[in-house]
Amino acid sequence: MKMAVFSAKVYDREFLTEANQSAGHALTFFEPHLDISTVQLAAGYDAVCVFTNDTLNREVLQALAKHGVRVVALRCAGYNNVDLEAAQELGLTVVRVPAYSPYAVAEHAVGMILTLNRKFHKAYNRVREGNFKLDCLLGFDLHGKTVGIVGTGKIGTVAANILKGFGCRVLTYDPAPNILFEEHGIQCVSLPDLLKQSDIISLHCPLTPQTYHLISDESLSQMKDGVMIINTSRGGIIDTKAIIRGLKAGKVGYLGLDVYEEEADIFFEDLSDKCMEDDVFARLMTFPNVLITGHQAFFTQEAMANIAQTTLSNISQVERGEACPNQVLPMPGELKVAAARP
Ligand code: NAD
Repeated sequence: MKMAVFSAKVYDREFLTEANQSAGHALTFFEPHLDISTVQLAAGYDAVCVFTNDTLNREVLQALAKHGVRVVALRCAGYNNVDLEAAQELGLTVVRVPAYSPYAVAEHAVGMILTLNRKFHKAYNRVREGNFKLDCLLGFDLHGKTVGIVGTGKIGTVAANILKGFGCRVLTYDPAPNILFEEHGIQCVSLPDLLKQSDIISLHCPLTPQTYHLISDESLSQMKDGVMIINTSRGGIIDTKAIIRGLKAGKVGYLGLDVYEEEADIFFEDLSDKCMEDDVFARLMTFPNVLITGHQAFFTQEAMANIAQTTLSNISQVERGEACPNQVLPMPGELKVAAARP
């Protein structure tokens, strides 16, 4: 198929080009995000390949269909940025990469926990400047702490097992609980119990209308003082203004974010010579106990190779008219998030 790859970075070209040696599609790489202002670039292509911050609302999907595009290939797991109902109405097939390396994301989340706790980022800079004092580097033993995992799909399960290995007491909440956990000493509890008992909370659920602003003033009020919160899932799961209030009040003791509600205008770009226009994000960066990475949790060699290989094999299956197991179809509750995006 002729495929237009949007939001294409050097590493996307590298991994997709390598995987395409056997797949044999015609790939064209475009640096801009896909949105209504760039959608005309897709004219004449059979498929578009998109990432987390491309916009696939009804208006963009209508334009894609008008330009002759038949397939939307997400090179990521999450599909909250696609109006699936509109895609179905327009006859567009949406495929994704449901699993490429749960280890990449879970290990990044645990890395964030360790960094916030033991302050590796501060120690690195301090030592390089010849300052070997330990003041303000005091951490705590992870062993024996209670960690709450929200969402125990592929990534949450890996995170729960890693943290169990650290000697943590692991609590999990998922509307579809994993009963096998109990055998491994990992407890399935209600969300209020998890919020109340956890020293560390790591979010691994998808962004849906049910999880939008799951972390809010109300849920923060149920947590322990000084709680650590880690979000490697999707920015919209946290109400950022509420968590800033929590940080200021000392309710939140540590915050690790790999995703941010308004990340589409910030992440994956070099803005180092520009003024930060997002005041909420700028405020977040002033806290010494906040660690932000720019949506890089997935970014390992293994994950990138798997993403490229699965994306192209999804396209090949659709081209051959075969049923693609990675096709995404609308489900009633999941429509509103994408539909609401600008
Ligand atoms: P998954 O589908 O395997 O698991 C998601 C789990 O969340 C499921 O078990 C589901 O039952 C559960 N869930 C659904 N609604 C819930 C709710 N209201 N409360 C608690 N749990 C709920 O997905 P996964 O592969 O583990 O990925 C999880 C999320 O991680 C993705 O949706 C995506 O947003 C995010 N992600 C981020 C990156 C990154 O680079 N930062 C990379 C991949 C995935």
